Amino acid sequence: MLDHGPVTARKLRISGGGRCNFTHLEATARDYASENPAFATSALARFTPWDAVGLLAELGLGYEEKNPGQLFCDLGAPALARRLEQACIQAGVQIHPRTRIRHAERQANHYLVRTDKGDMTCDSLVLALGGPSWPDAGATDLGLTLASGFGLRVIPPRPALVPLVLPPKDQTMCRELAGVSLPVELETNGLCIRDDMLFTHKGISGPAVLRLSLHWTKGHAVSLNLLPGLDLEAHLREHRTARTKLKKHLASLIPARVAATLLPAELSSAPLCQLSNAGIRDVVQRLQRMERVPARTEGLARAEVTAGGVDTRAVSSKTMECRELPGLFLIGELLDVTGDLGGYNLQWAWSSAHAAAQYV
Ligand SMILES: Cc1cc2nc3c(=O)[nH]c(=O)nc-3n(C[C@H](O)[C@H](O)[C@H](O)COP(=O)(O)OP(=O)(O)OC[C@H]3O[C@@H](n4cnc5c(N)ncnc54)[C@H](O)[C@@H]3O)c2cc1C
Repeated sequence: MLDHGPVTARKLRISGGGRCNFTHLEATARDYASENPAFATSALARFTPWDAVGLLAELGLGYEEKNPGQLFCDLGAPALARRLEQACIQAGVQIHPRTRIRHAERQANHYLVRTDKGDMTCDSLVLALGGPSWPDAGATDLGLTLASGFGLRVIPPRPALVPLVLPPKDQTMCRELAGVSLPVELETNGLCIRDDMLFTHKGISGPAVLRLSLHWTKGHAVSLNLLPGLDLEAHLREHRTARTKLKKHLASLIPARVAATLLPAELSSAPLCQLSNAGIRDVVQRLQRMERVPARTEGLARAEVTAGGVDTRAVSSKTMECRELPGLFLIGELLDVTGDLGGYNLQWAWSSAHAAAQYV
């Protein structure tokens, strides 16, 4: 096992904010974005989320279910990484940290890997090099470069599970609302996500936005409903007899800073009994039908995963081996299989690794 980092599995060690959301119990191929949507089915069926739970148990680790289906390692991500590493060593794996891979090629019936510590040869070569997102944890685009060198098609990598940056005209709003978190419903490209959202100094983040970013494409508007599940227009009409100021009434429904920032002062200071029909529609428009076209994502530096990657049509879904290059296996995030937020990406890493391990 060659890795240029000082330790192995640096992304795993920081996953889930250090708590490692190692699987999602409901994971199926439908939870992954890919040009070849059925590709993940076979590997996921042969190493399921419960197999991941079993793997942790074998390593002496338990789990906690934080949100429905989302399982976190009870002793945290670094403990899981250390125990996986120990299990590999016990199984005879030689680990070579601080070893930078320069190049790999097929020679007759074996593979040659050139590193800064010298050349190595092998019968089976497994590329588990991930994607270029989150370079602070050692990510590079080497996997994609090597795959291209082997003649494999690469679907252009793009940041996913990443915060979105709003355009310059929204920057004042972002600064005023930075740090505010609330449940929302977001819509883009016909997709609707209900989860928590966080305003940042530059735009929007939090689970709802990270999940949306997997499907958002540049230039498309995002519709934000900051009061999901409430018919706000009917609600305000119902309370139109009250003398309470709108902002005071809204404070029981939404963080006060949100209403203060998004509603004009004269509207939010008006008593409910003085709201006109047009005023009510204006409030609904601003709080439940806010449309924004994000300027960009926060990029690969802040993306939890890389979408795109090596086109899986060149790879066997049973073995993870390249059809045209016997002995060359590709697994994990390097492939064009990108999971939703919630443990799906590590589940794919386990399942695809397990599939390949039966055949290397
Ligand atoms: C901050 C953060 C939090 C995350 N949290 C979760 C979570 O809770 N749950 C979840 O399911 N997913 C999570 N993910 C995603 C998940 O960590 C990845 O999808 C998963 O680690 C991919 O596994 P992999 O083995 O394919 O690649 P990686 O884990 O990226 O491993 C690739 C390895 O290749 C090595 N490498 C790269 N370039 C070179 C080179 N030139 N020479 C030698 N070695 C090289 C790297 O050092 C690295 O160890 C998170 C990601 C991030 C960034």
